[in-house]
Amino acid sequence: MSLPQPLLSLQHVSKSYADAALGQLHILRDVDLTLAPGEAIAIIGPSGSGKTTLLNIIGTLDRPTSGKVSLAGQDLAGLDDVQLAAVRSRHIGFIFQSHHLLPQCSVLENVLLPTLACNDSGIRSRGPERAQRLLKRVGLGERLNHRPGQLSGGERQRVAFVRALINEPKLLLADEPTGALDQTSAANLGKLLLELNHEEGVALIVVTHARDLAFTMQRVYELHDGTLITASAS
Ligand code: ADP
Ligand code: MG
Repeated sequence: MSLPQPLLSLQHVSKSYADAALGQLHILRDVDLTLAPGEAIAIIGPSGSGKTTLLNIIGTLDRPTSGKVSLAGQDLAGLDDVQLAAVRSRHIGFIFQSHHLLPQCSVLENVLLPTLACNDSGIRSRGPERAQRLLKRVGLGERLNHRPGQLSGGERQRVAFVRALINEPKLLLADEPTGALDQTSAANLGKLLLELNHEEGVALIVVTHARDLAFTMQRVYELHDGTLITASAS
């Protein structure tokens, strides 16, 4: 029997930059990572350790200097920028530290924006109903026509979670998703992320400074000198 195909696989991924003063800067060295469909993992590490660089490579926003990245069985190195954008829009949802909502659009309009760029007509037609269901799920059923400026920080981030899920992605990438929130909101939002991971069957990679959030995930890795190592809770 063959093993189920991983959703994501990184093999010997390295990233370096040429710096005029410092020479070659090696940000990532020989990173291997495999993620099964629906799995939830965390990546921790100090500021500047390469967490965002790694997430951008996984999210097809950046390319590795060497090594191989496969998503849903497809080798990303063989794709041009237009094809990468299609993979991104179809398979990946992004959550950032700052919500990046459009201030002049309503909550519902913000959530539906990614469906406009999606070339899957099924996703576009399911969008409005899915948006309303998910907004209700995250406690914003009464806020569909509000503008982002009329919401709290935690509420805005919940809108950003739903927007990241609207195109039915297989993989959710969250870069410091609770970094801008107070401790209580951060804890609630971390819990919500895991619940959505289960309920929507979407794999999750969370990059975070918050060790307590990290250790609610199935596996935790730490970036150390550009290498990805398994982190322990102690
Ligand atoms: P983290 O998200 O863990 O804080 P980053 O991935 O943002 O770290 O950055 C890791 C390192 O890579 C930093 O030292 C940063 O200065 C460097 N870096 C990131 N992007 C570039 C770039 N385009 N050119 C040169 N150095 C970069
Ligand atoms: Mg970062």
